[in-house]
Amino acid sequence: WAMSAGCWLLGYFPAREEIGYLSLAFKGCLAAMGIAGMFLLGAVRKAEHQAYIPLFAGILCFAFAFSTDSMAELVRTSLWVKIIGERMLLLVGFALVLRGLYLWSRHTMQINDKLARLATTDELTGVANRRQLMHELKKQTALASRQSGNMVSAIMFDVDHFKLINDEHGHEEGDKVLKDITRLANAELRIEDMLARIGGEEFVVLLPSTGLNGAAQSAERLRKAVKRTQLGAAEHASASFGVAVYKPGEPIAGFLKRLDMAVYKSKKAGRDRVTVDLP
Ligand code: GH3
Ligand code: MG
Ligand code: MG
Repeated sequence: WAMSAGCWLLGYFPAREEIGYLSLAFKGCLAAMGIAGMFLLGAVRKAEHQAYIPLFAGILCFAFAFSTDSMAELVRTSLWVKIIGERMLLLVGFALVLRGLYLWSRHTMQINDKLARLATTDELTGVANRRQLMHELKKQTALASRQSGNMVSAIMFDVDHFKLINDEHGHEEGDKVLKDITRLANAELRIEDMLARIGGEEFVVLLPSTGLNGAAQSAERLRKAVKRTQLGAAEHASASFGVAVYKPGEPIAGFLKRLDMAVYKSKKAGRDRVTVDLP
């Protein structure tokens, strides 16, 4: 940018005093060099810098609009042509600058969206990540603690022998199994339930306005769906489930610990089952 601006200024000033084809050509060359410099630096090739092209061209139009005196004298044109030319350059410059600002703000908004998405979702499966789950847990458990009768439950599950699936079919196939599981779970769950991936092959489903019975039924439905569906290349994959209802006032870490213990019990008892943490 500094190079382009410097080139243009160098070309601009001599042209004001010494009117001639030579100085005009010199100015044009330097402006072209400035633009070429930007391309060479790779700045305008990147999508995020594309707003600079109309911005720079717009500023160039403004600059030429202010040097119409010297140009008019050079080509000995009438005052009207000079005035109309000047206005046209200003108009085009204004439109280009607006276009540049529009592209710039659109790109900024896209980046903001992307950052927000990256901060809250799991990259592999597209479901919520641990951070988003904790955020939602804070809200839901606060509501459940304040309003008696508003229960919130959760299901935690862990894919069985996932290491074997990876070893037998490869890591990529393992990734595909994880993606298929999230697709399957999302299809089985209600719209208000939140599915989150909290670790390698560990997931949590948060079920607002749901008691222990409802959550246990959902978990059983999920378990059966995982068992009967072909996930990636893995035949008859299964998962172990833990279900718990939140106790009003309980710390979130304690709630998650109870879920974890329930999953552990399912694993101990032979996997592919649901353990309900009874209060
Ligand atoms: P268990 O039935 O006791 O849960 O056995 P397991 O093999 O599922 O559990 P373990 O914790 O021993 O192994 C989990 C494996 O998950 C190990 C790790 O390589 C794999 N893993 C973790 N994250 C990913 C991932 O993002 N993609 C794939 N493909 N594998 C992953
Ligand atoms: Mg596992
Ligand atoms: Mg695990």
